Amino acid sequence: MVPLKPDSELDPALREALGRLLGAGGLLTGAAQREAYAWDNAGRRFLPWAVALPENREQVAGVLRLCHDAGVPVVPRGAGSGCVGGGLAVQGGVILSTQRLKRILAIKPGDRLAVVEPGVVNGELRSALASHGLFWPPDPSSSRVCTIGGNLAMCSAGPNAVRYGVTRHWVLGLTVLLADGSTLRVGGRTTKGVVGYDLTQLLIGSEGTLAVVVEAILKLAPLPEARRTLRASFRSMEQAAHAVAWVMSRGEVPSALEFLDPAALELLRRDHAEVCHPEGRALLLAEVEGSADEVDRKARALQERLQACDPLEALVAADERESKRLWAARYALSPTLTRIAPRRVNEDVVVPVTRLAALVAGVATISQETGVPIVSFGHAGNGNIHVNLLTDPADLAAQERVQRALDRLFSLVLELEGTLSGEHGVGIMKRDYISRELDPNSLELQKKIKQLFDPKGILNPGKVFS
Ligand SMILES: Cc1cc2nc3c(=O)[nH]c(=O)nc-3n(C[C@H](O)[C@H](O)[C@H](O)COP(=O)(O)OP(=O)(O)OC[C@H]3O[C@@H](n4cnc5c(N)ncnc54)[C@H](O)[C@@H]3O)c2cc1C
Repeated sequence: MVPLKPDSELDPALREALGRLLGAGGLLTGAAQREAYAWDNAGRRFLPWAVALPENREQVAGVLRLCHDAGVPVVPRGAGSGCVGGGLAVQGGVILSTQRLKRILAIKPGDRLAVVEPGVVNGELRSALASHGLFWPPDPSSSRVCTIGGNLAMCSAGPNAVRYGVTRHWVLGLTVLLADGSTLRVGGRTTKGVVGYDLTQLLIGSEGTLAVVVEAILKLAPLPEARRTLRASFRSMEQAAHAVAWVMSRGEVPSALEFLDPAALELLRRDHAEVCHPEGRALLLAEVEGSADEVDRKARALQERLQACDPLEALVAADERESKRLWAARYALSPTLTRIAPRRVNEDVVVPVTRLAALVAGVATISQETGVPIVSFGHAGNGNIHVNLLTDPADLAAQERVQRALDRLFSLVLELEGTLSGEHGVGIMKRDYISRELDPNSLELQKKIKQLFDPKGILNPGKVFS
């Protein structure tokens, strides 16, 4: 491992070589320019020494080669919407931005695949595929800004993961560049293939610590013809959590099944009182999809399953407008919370669906006993709940309470046979906790894999492992 100096400037010789390689405007070194890349959604600031904006794979390889030879850290970065500091230069070095690698190289409806560069924005790919009647299912709420490279590195997902799974289920192959700039191709263009170890799956979710993705072959799904949204209000959150397990235990899986706790409902009531039953203490929001002539039948079937759980009400949205209003209300929760508590701690824990009721009850106890206000909502069909601990960074005692609450939350999740992160990843925010979840042999093996891919430790150092 090369000793890294976080407060260094870029060595003049390296700066000149990178500038020559990347051409005019391809290397940002001004303080104000670098500042824009010093942040992500984790809210921590680490100023990089420089920002490289390669336009093609050869330039990415060149940046890696030069930095590898000089022992300078390289941090791959997409849109910087990550929640765990993954795209931050925590040990200094060069940010390798994919913002100019934005080409959709091929769309092959017959093979149900698309070939893209890593800087393509998730939502833009969705628009491009729609005219072919296809889509790439991973749908993080940040889809309007986040890149495919970021989705691959974090194995991102959104509400539809309950039906479609997560990013790793929708990737056929990757071309990546290793820390020294050499090329590695994994997977391919087929939907079956069992030759050798599955390195594609190893790279997905590796948070930019093993390689830089420069091209991805993505598997596509047919765009559903029609959707229906349902909402069900419950007297208690435990009752709503039991309903989730009941819905998941039989029949067709909905394409979304979201949960809101009493505190989240209170926020919703501020601007969208019409979607909440006045006595409701928890809300489930669900969606079914299919062909135009089957979707109403599917909606009725799900409504019956929800009604069997004794809700205050279980309603199918009357039309597309109501549907949009419901989802807009759900998506407004995160920004509203950010306004109220800009430095909230947003955890994305997961438990088996049948343990959801124990999770939400446990979270309520933690909130009561530590005095930390907590707002929970999320992708209940996957058992994936965003637990938001509201805090005031200026209040040291509050910070200490949040740490205690976090510690208890993680213990609870592991007791319930869950995992500490379902979609945000580890980055710098959870690296001190992963040993609580991972088997020691697994952790040791993972560190060896990192060493094998990146012996000099220049690729996104300081992430995942403490
Ligand atoms: C409002 C909001 C809502 C969100 N909702 C969701 C959600 O519903 N589900 C979800 O999963 N996440 C969500 N996120 C988190 C975030 O959007 C995702 O993690 C997203 O995939 C990150 O993409 P990005 O392009 O912004 O990546 P960045 O933040 O730039 O980088 C994330 C990680 O990917 C690595 N990386 C980026 N590009 C490459 C590459 N080409 N090769 C190798 N490594 C690379 C970086 O090094 C870093 O470790 C949300 C974030 C926000 C701000």
